[in-house]
Amino acid sequence: MRKLALVGLGASGLFALRELAGANVEVHVFDVGPEYSKRYACPIDQGKLEVCPPKACSYCAPGQSAGSWNDFKVILSASPTIGGRLYDLVGAAELQKRLDKVKATILAHAPVEIPVVTPNADDLEWIKRKSALAGMTYHYQELLHCGSDNAPAINTSILKEITDKGPNIVFHWDTKVLSVRRLDGKFQLTFDRYRRPENEQQDTFDYCVLAPGRGGAHWLTQQEFYKDLDIHPGQVDIGVRVETSSFFTEEVDKRFYEPKLYYRTKRTNDVVRNFCSNPKGFVTPENHRDYVLVNGHSKMYEKSENNNFAVLVSKTFTRPFKDPQLYSQTLAKVVNMLAGGGPLIQRLGDLKSGRRTKSLKNNLIKPTLEAECGDLALAYPHRILEGIIEYLEALDKICPGVADNCTLLYGPECKSYPDSITVSKNMETNIPNLFVVGDSSSWTRGVGQATTSGILVGEGILEKLKGGKSSPAPAIAPELPAPKSIPVTIINP
Ligand SMILES: Cc1cc2nc3c(=O)[nH]c(=O)nc-3n(C[C@H](O)[C@H](O)[C@H](O)COP(=O)(O)OP(=O)(O)OC[C@H]3O[C@@H](n4cnc5c(N)ncnc54)[C@H](O)[C@@H]3O)c2cc1C
Repeated sequence: MRKLALVGLGASGLFALRELAGANVEVHVFDVGPEYSKRYACPIDQGKLEVCPPKACSYCAPGQSAGSWNDFKVILSASPTIGGRLYDLVGAAELQKRLDKVKATILAHAPVEIPVVTPNADDLEWIKRKSALAGMTYHYQELLHCGSDNAPAINTSILKEITDKGPNIVFHWDTKVLSVRRLDGKFQLTFDRYRRPENEQQDTFDYCVLAPGRGGAHWLTQQEFYKDLDIHPGQVDIGVRVETSSFFTEEVDKRFYEPKLYYRTKRTNDVVRNFCSNPKGFVTPENHRDYVLVNGHSKMYEKSENNNFAVLVSKTFTRPFKDPQLYSQTLAKVVNMLAGGGPLIQRLGDLKSGRRTKSLKNNLIKPTLEAECGDLALAYPHRILEGIIEYLEALDKICPGVADNCTLLYGPECKSYPDSITVSKNMETNIPNLFVVGDSSSWTRGVGQATTSGILVGEGILEKLKGGKSSPAPAIAPELPAPKSIPVTIINP
């Protein structure tokens, strides 16, 4: 029987594995995390710790698979703009077909009924008018919000379905794949235990599916084959996590849960967008060991009085600079440095007045994450802060109150995307039988499209096993579109 290595069992890996369960191929799954039933919720969130441990626990760093375990919001619409770029790769109909499958799978495994947020005609009319008057563009999306509290049950149940169906699968939990190299048309993996190493082993595989997520993107660039892939530099999003009263946003929250609103800055024409709204949610640290970002999540049952969401300014770089990840990490470290090692918080009013926040004692909005008060302007480029302030002022026309002085801004919230790797419609690279899937390929940016890319890769391998015509990406010039900047209709008032 032929052998396949699947590196990473996060959102994309899990859905690839679901396709391969019971197939005529021996699948070896490697993940640095413990087996799903032993994964735990964020200790800060559980009230067991007040701050992140100096070394990140496995909650946000490798091993806990990020968004499919934390918040678990899934964009279910095939959009050319949001959630990733699979629309460019496979087209609207093919993408929607897989997203529908993702939705059905998650709902079938959910321990409780999870509402699907689908805006109705009245809501759409309302937001289109409001956003045009505010100088923003609304992008339609249907959404599923599972909540951090339901995520373990859903993932564990999907995995159980897979193991019940798949005697062909061998799991290597708590195992880090150290390297992947080509060997006579096959792939040789060197791997070791993650937490207590020194048990290094090697094995060789006919197919290799790499799904290490954004956290594994740097690791990917260190592999022997990387220089032979067809790649384009990725994008970076720099911004802040905004925390405000949920009363200010309740009108859009109840209609859309998270409306995707894009804006172009007047002076620099930069794209600014909102991301990851958490009505009645909590701001949370995202610990990457040598720097700490902020993020947010919400739960189905426990609620706060606040809403938090990211406001991000998108940037791509041109020659000679080609390391956007290094740029965003350096910026994050400067913010951490000013805040004594963690996130920094500032009132919007103080940022606008050019002074640091010293205390939040009398602030109307009470923060859900303890962070050091300070001045974001000492770390962020002026252009980025200008974009964020303009965005909030435009949003204030839709959600009166969000641009109030009492609104809180946390930094650093940075999202850097790996290099975009040219792949076929089944996520196969220009190296035959080598697949890169999920966020590490840069084609996806969230759980919805990451899981979809997993389905695509699974389908491609099943086709190959049948001797079908699934073929790798072109070896030299890419026929598929290179990453492009986010298209936005500009409607300035
Ligand atoms: C805190 C947080 C919250 C988020 N919330 C949302 C959300 O609500 N909705 C949304 O759409 N998106 C969210 N995202 C983004 C979302 O998590 C990703 O888009 C999605 O998980 C990408 O899936 P993936 O399979 O590519 O990678 P991941 O889900 O990150 O999985 C990668 C897996 O690979 C493993 N791995 C990495 N390197 C190795 C190695 N060398 N050897 C073995 N195993 C390895 C990791 O342990 C991990 O299990 C969030 C991200 C973060 C960080």
